[in-house]
Amino acid sequence: MKKVLITGAAGFLGSHLCDRFIKEGYHVIGMDNFITGDRKNLSHLESHSNFEIIEHDVTEFINIEGELDYILHFASPASPIDYLKIPIQTLKVGALGTHNLLGLAKAKNARMLIASTSEVYGDPLVHPQTEAYYGNVNTIGPRGVYDEAKRFQESITMAYHRFHGLETRIVRIFNTYGPRMRLNDGRVIPAFMGQALRGEDLTVFGDGSQTRSFCYVDDQVEGIYRLLLSDYSDPVNIGNPHEITISDFAEEIIKLTGTTQKVIYKDLPVDDPMQRQPDITLAKKILEWEPKVGREEGMKKTFEYFKGLSQDDLHKSEHKDFKKHIKK
Ligand code: NAD
Ligand code: UDP
Repeated sequence: MKKVLITGAAGFLGSHLCDRFIKEGYHVIGMDNFITGDRKNLSHLESHSNFEIIEHDVTEFINIEGELDYILHFASPASPIDYLKIPIQTLKVGALGTHNLLGLAKAKNARMLIASTSEVYGDPLVHPQTEAYYGNVNTIGPRGVYDEAKRFQESITMAYHRFHGLETRIVRIFNTYGPRMRLNDGRVIPAFMGQALRGEDLTVFGDGSQTRSFCYVDDQVEGIYRLLLSDYSDPVNIGNPHEITISDFAEEIIKLTGTTQKVIYKDLPVDDPMQRQPDITLAKKILEWEPKVGREEGMKKTFEYFKGLSQDDLHKSEHKDFKKHIKK
């Protein structure tokens, strides 16, 4: 039985990846320090004989007994609100955490896949974004802690690949959504759906003309799975190219949720990218992958999930005590 270590396992993407690898017959070791994730995302796997969860901060030395075939490094705060609140942890998990995991992969002769992001393109001047684009990132802006951690993560991964001959894979993930996102992580989909459910106005930042392209989680997981098993070591974009402005998206959410509230406009956050759309030509060619779930279907499924949450979850504006999880 193949063994896979998934960091960030209690998070949104990590927990869906655990499900997928269990389904494929792997032994899965999940690792998480629960700083932005939630144990509840894994409760259905806890008693599974091929699943174990280790509570650990990956910025500290990592010890795993026995062999490992694959490592998927998904630990990192991922929403702008989260990484602005814990900027140093964000830099550390991308830099020190990745270094520890690459060392572990080398020791175990395991293949390592890292979760990079469309944020490596910053506020892009090339549209849609191809993997060949070097990006436009403000290193010292508030988002720089995330963007630069991810850029460093790509660099050190390529260095281990070239210098040590380690088998590595880099996925550049574009905005992905679905069940198990944290309702109050500040990302636009949980934000709008939470507001609709609480009967609040929907907050569009700026004039809403900025664009995003949203990918449903099942499609993302399929792309990541195929990339891991491919023999391609340069970065690959995985996302859904169907682009929409944030103001049009707010209207779609009003229709979907049936809320009678209106849209209100707030300041645009610093360095908020104005446009984003993945060019997925490469993924189509080498992975024979493309997204299958349209926005209407994906948003419906996601809204069903949020509707099922407790009133308590719905009304907590911030249920995460980040400080509790940070060791000095
Ligand atoms: P998430 O916040 O739901 O999950 C991240 C998980 O990592 C959490 O469970 C958190 O507790 C854990 N974590 C953070 N720091 C840790 C540390 N030092 N040690 C151990 N665990 C730690 O976020 P997500 O959306 O699931 O994102 C997962 C990964 O995918 C991240 O690396 C993120 O940068 C990347 N990504 C996600 C998206 C997206 O749209 N969801 C887009 C681009 C990239
Ligand atoms: N956004 C918004 N209202 C919100 C939350 C986000 O208008 O309540 C905007 C945000 O400014 C950005 C887009 O939605 O332009 C996507 O934001 P998100 O935080 O989901 O992801 P990212 O900016 O990292 O793509």
